Amino acid sequence: MKKVLTVCPYCGSGCQLYLCVEDNRVVGAEPANGPINEGELCLKGHYGWDFLNDTKILSKRLTKPMLRYTRSEPLREVEWDEALDYVAGKLKTIKEQYGPDAIMGTGSARGTGNETNYVMQRFMRAVIGTNNVDHCARVCHGPSVAGLTAIFGSGAMSNSIPEIEDADCLLIFGYNAADAHPLVAKRILRAKQKGAKIIVVDPRKTEAARISDLWLQLKNGSNMALVNSFANIILAKGWHNDYFINNFTEGFAEYCNTVKKYTPEYAQAITGIEPDLVEAAMKIYTHSKNSFILWGMGVTQFGQAVDVVKGLGSLCLLTGQIGKPSSGVGPVRGQNNVQGACDMGALPNIYPGYQAVTDAANRKKFAKAWGVETLPDKIGFTITEVPHAVAAGKLKAFYIIGEDPVQSDPDSGGLKKALNDLEFVIVQDIFMNKTALYADVILPATSWGEHGGVFSGADRRFQRFRKAVDAKGDVKDDWVIIGELAKRFGYELTYKNTEAIWNEMISLCPSYAGATYEKMERQGSVQWPCRTLEDPGTDYLFKGNIFQTTSKKGIFFATEWRAPAEVPDEQYPIVLCTVREVGHYSSRTMTGNCWGLSQLADEPGYVQISVEDAARLDIEDEQLMRVTSRRGSVISRARVSDRVKAGAVYMTYQWWIGACNELTIDNLDPISKTPEYKYCAVKLEAI
Ligand code: SF4
Repeated sequence: MKKVLTVCPYCGSGCQLYLCVEDNRVVGAEPANGPINEGELCLKGHYGWDFLNDTKILSKRLTKPMLRYTRSEPLREVEWDEALDYVAGKLKTIKEQYGPDAIMGTGSARGTGNETNYVMQRFMRAVIGTNNVDHCARVCHGPSVAGLTAIFGSGAMSNSIPEIEDADCLLIFGYNAADAHPLVAKRILRAKQKGAKIIVVDPRKTEAARISDLWLQLKNGSNMALVNSFANIILAKGWHNDYFINNFTEGFAEYCNTVKKYTPEYAQAITGIEPDLVEAAMKIYTHSKNSFILWGMGVTQFGQAVDVVKGLGSLCLLTGQIGKPSSGVGPVRGQNNVQGACDMGALPNIYPGYQAVTDAANRKKFAKAWGVETLPDKIGFTITEVPHAVAAGKLKAFYIIGEDPVQSDPDSGGLKKALNDLEFVIVQDIFMNKTALYADVILPATSWGEHGGVFSGADRRFQRFRKAVDAKGDVKDDWVIIGELAKRFGYELTYKNTEAIWNEMISLCPSYAGATYEKMERQGSVQWPCRTLEDPGTDYLFKGNIFQTTSKKGIFFATEWRAPAEVPDEQYPIVLCTVREVGHYSSRTMTGNCWGLSQLADEPGYVQISVEDAARLDIEDEQLMRVTSRRGSVISRARVSDRVKAGAVYMTYQWWIGACNELTIDNLDPISKTPEYKYCAVKLEAI
């Protein structure tokens, strides 16, 4: 048996593990002593590997290209040349007829690595000629990137995951670490054991809320009002840091003007939180030596998400709780490489290394490196804009790599219609998924475990992941497929190996310039910024309180609270909020094909409902019930719980039956275009 050191393919924590291999089959996983996990793994790390052996529990691995020339035909297996010739021919025709901006592509935040994301965005920009490239950060931490970039000049976690346990205060806002990032949850527990005060803001009694010193069970959809009231009480009590504000920030006067109305008493009508609790929470936050704010989808999946992120960052500026160890902002990324897909520029507004496409000097630099005369200057579409762009006749083709938007994006009925209306849909993946049912061509790729490269963990941490087994079937690495397509456009996009891709990428990105494969091998990981070969990388940002904005100062921000787009009414009286489940990952194509994990949770999801609502509607625990919104209706099973308040229900999004995204609304944050998964109106019926 051989053991191959690699990085877990699931959440963004970035735990290191060994894959145990016998006769080209994975037979187990063992924890490695990585900087995040230090010899431990969660359930998914321990039991999430045997999909590589094609267990066929949920679906079959894709092992051959598939194609249909008309939508009335079934997809049939073909040779690679036929599939790639057809894809290249169709994309050329669409580009010629409608222009390059009629084509949209995705990177992938899932198993595929940074190198594929780099090659994919180069293909879209240099070969197709559009900035229409995006990925699923759009539906999770897009607002964190936009919000933090606006106030600090950098959209990443300011500090490292290991620093969490040395904070004196953790303010955990809309973040269920126990289900989303179990090894981060362990750091929270260790912080508690070391004496940290834990403040949790969440409408549900999460595991973190259970161990907290203060739990603020706010009303769903009231985040901005609560954050403003935090600022208000800090100022009213004189707990702000005048030295920090005067020397390292801008926009303080305007900020004070906005938050002055949000006294805890005024905000209570919106948030439901007692003024005493607001004061107690901010007394702990401001009086602790090192306070660290962690957040998750409970902040970012709202129509006012970017504003709230800026508001949370402004609390750091108000108090000086940033620019030092264990103190700052922690938007903990969900999928294992969602940080990496952003780092590599699989976004419609930036090149790799967060270099704006709207900057002429950046365009010139990348055009020269990529051997083209010009690059497009117009910011591209986001994935959440696809249904609208298709309806407006602006998009005609969609090339989807390693994502399953029919399962994961809001209002799946609207997205299915868009896929049907597109002229051409390409899906490149490892399993047949719900989106692939709408494809004209399916390109089968190698999986995590079958190729290597670099992932970026949630705390800006580059780590090498490695090939453990040879792929079975007629499949290719994602970046090889893209290179073969480019060749059909007469463009050279082939590389000897992933290290060659990586070296090209770091030569174009000053913040990653010193992060070589060799350094990752030697150190185990490298956190960017890492600008030179001598630089070991950066554990926490903004040392010396120097921010990365143009003025080098932190920029305060506050704004008025606004209500979610679809509030409950007589017909749809309950709030629906989507959540995650610890035993499964994303749209479940990988974890649903693992024996251990499918044994743990093998039934279509559930609706978590309060004791009060269940009694009122005569619904018993485990009973089937119908959930209906203005967009769809699904059947799921009730889980009656005293951890949630009356008036809201919670559904996991991983399940194909009872899929909550048939119900969700595609109201988008106006800046990040992230959907409001956490709030829409539904009605419930016992069946
Ligand atoms: Fe994998 Fe995340 Fe679990 Fe670590 S915490 S083993 S990265 S799923």
